[in-house]
Amino acid sequence: YSVQNTKFVLAYCLLSFARLHILSPSRLEGKVALITGGASGIGKTAAHEFIKHGAQVIIADMDSQIGPQAAKELGPAAHFVQCDVTAEAQLEKAVMIAMTEYGKLDIMYNNAGVAGPSFPPSIADLDLNEFDKVMQVNVRGTVAGIKHAARAMIPAGSGCILCTSSISGLIGGAGSHSYSVSKSTVPGIVKSVASELCRNGIRINCISPGPIPTPLSLAQIGLIYPRATQEQLVEIVNGLGQLKGARCEEADVAGAALYLASDEAKYVTGHNLVVDGGFTCFKNLPF
Ligand code: NAD
Repeated sequence: YSVQNTKFVLAYCLLSFARLHILSPSRLEGKVALITGGASGIGKTAAHEFIKHGAQVIIADMDSQIGPQAAKELGPAAHFVQCDVTAEAQLEKAVMIAMTEYGKLDIMYNNAGVAGPSFPPSIADLDLNEFDKVMQVNVRGTVAGIKHAARAMIPAGSGCILCTSSISGLIGGAGSHSYSVSKSTVPGIVKSVASELCRNGIRINCISPGPIPTPLSLAQIGLIYPRATQEQLVEIVNGLGQLKGARCEEADVAGAALYLASDEAKYVTGHNLVVDGGFTCFKNLPF
């Protein structure tokens, strides 16, 4: 009886191994990815997911405190490069590191973003200097990332570019004006660039996540609810989700990024993949 039991356990282990390693092959094996804003939140989770599926990941983030720490946590397949996406030369250098250290750049994920230090209740109170700063990171930084990725990918004749938009760019009233305007540009940039780069075998897509409690969103919500504790702010952000029994998590966005970066999406370009549990389907009517 015990011999049979042992055989059963061995067969079970073999089947599990086969299911994990043979039937579900790594979806980014041998790929080199660069993720801006990869030291925290969505970017860090995407880095983890990409590494799990066989990629080498360069985390390009301006934060020199959490960046190296994130790379350490992610293990030997992660490499931190300090990079402020508003400084074009720093982005160019990050891409050059991919080319010199790893020999190529397969995936460029333009994910770094800011929401601005204030949340003016009215457009009449908008601080245009603050508006410019948000546009510098979320729009100029994204375009600069695309530009330098394209320089590396065009000669290779292949590549995949991802960008982070937001539901705030798709509907009104879901973010400060500066943030919403900046994010609304991203699907447009993606369409424009897709129409050119499809001729070079390069795909470009963006993802519009719903509300996830990360340092960025918690800081924004904190401006609206200044007396709320951190735990209350997390609850408020989680409560914004529309899908019953689920809330938006970094892993949901990372899963979408993994799909778009993989060969499963080899015919998908110019697309905005909304990961919001129905947030933008919400009908704001009393019935
Ligand atoms: P986060 O605060 O956890 O991460 C943002 C990262 O970007 C940080 O590591 C930060 O250091 C980095 N960063 C900021 N400015 C930078 C710059 N100039 N150069 C390089 N790195 C910079 O926030 P997150 O929620 O993970 O944000 C990631 C992206 O997702 C952003 O573009 C954000 O707008 C977008 N997004 C977030 C939500 C949400 O609810 N959290 C929803 C939709 C879209």
